[in-house]
Amino acid sequence: MPGDLHRWTREARRQLPALRAWRADFHRDPELSNHEVRTQEKVLRALATLGIPARTYGKDLHGVVGLIESERTGPVVALRADMDALPITEETGAPFASRTAGTMHACGHDVHMACLLGAGALLRRNQGRLRGAFKLVFQPAEEDGHRGGALPLLERGAFDHPHVDYVIGQHVASEVALGTIGWKKGAMMAAPDEFEIRVRGSPGHASTPHQGPDAVLVAAEIITGLQAFVSRVRNPVDPVVVTVGTVHGGTRHNIIPREVVLTGTVRTVDAKTHAMAEQWIRRRVRLIAASMGAQVTIRYRSGYPVLVNDADATQRVVDALSAEFGQDHLTELKHPGMGAEDFARYLERVPGTFLRLGVRTPTMRASSHSSTFFPADQALVIGTATLVAGAIGLQTGPGR
Ligand SMILES: [Zn+2]
Ligand SMILES: [Zn+2]
Repeated sequence: MPGDLHRWTREARRQLPALRAWRADFHRDPELSNHEVRTQEKVLRALATLGIPARTYGKDLHGVVGLIESERTGPVVALRADMDALPITEETGAPFASRTAGTMHACGHDVHMACLLGAGALLRRNQGRLRGAFKLVFQPAEEDGHRGGALPLLERGAFDHPHVDYVIGQHVASEVALGTIGWKKGAMMAAPDEFEIRVRGSPGHASTPHQGPDAVLVAAEIITGLQAFVSRVRNPVDPVVVTVGTVHGGTRHNIIPREVVLTGTVRTVDAKTHAMAEQWIRRRVRLIAASMGAQVTIRYRSGYPVLVNDADATQRVVDALSAEFGQDHLTELKHPGMGAEDFARYLERVPGTFLRLGVRTPTMRASSHSSTFFPADQALVIGTATLVAGAIGLQTGPGR
């Protein structure tokens, strides 16, 4: 099959009506993280219709894993799509816009699921000519940001029996042109940590600041001081973001408040920098507060790990996609993004790669997580072909 340009794209295009219908069905009834009940039912029903056996992993986890096994031995590849939507009120005007007020598939997970069903249909149809096995992993709670759905799926054995050798996934990307696939070896997405800093000073009249530490001033010093991590601690060629997103304190212009609460995020793409960040921030914040006589409590929580694409696996996928789409439809991403993805959890277990499925058109204004984000149908065809060609490409690597 290699060398046959658009082999899978042609087949995916023939099933465009089904891809559209799946996408519309998911899009119409979005569900938030850890509430993907109807979505799970729809996936199970679609897989049953395609003749693909599937299983679930407990009532509290709304994932589904379908399995396509060939008669011939070969590597086992997991293909993953995420399932959850976002708390956003839709403004796309699409004929199948969300029927649930305040909830929307604004991150393209409806597209990801439709593409994975499409890939399942193609793999199932060609089962006799393929080798090894393919696991279709429908994963809930990607947007959850902390525990996510990937980790519990792995803990409950989604990558066992048969044991998964490689993993592939994709995410719609408004920074990549429609018809193009973005790829990157090594670190591709950030580890997003979260912190809350409570600064306690001495409340009093605004006219007598000398009577105790002023929590507002201490908080201001902390906000400024944290940026030294970016400018003076990490290596300048290693991207880091430190953002204080909320500042809460005070009731009136002439009262010094007792407490100011800051919350923010730290994003790193290097495991060592990630490990260093929490320690440094805790020490720095305590020192600033102590130097001004204020008390401070710090809560620091790590989210998903850094997403690291395996170099060899990525190369095999890039080769397979070049053979499918032509080289000019692939673009190497120069820098990691500072967003996060719990696809990183799978890549901690097995080699594989996460791709950017281009959806940008000349008229597209919105990016994902916005109320008007709406990828075109063509992405369904390309995304389906990408998963199939990429998964088969991964199988050219050494199995276990
Ligand atoms: Zn998202
Ligand atoms: Zn997403």
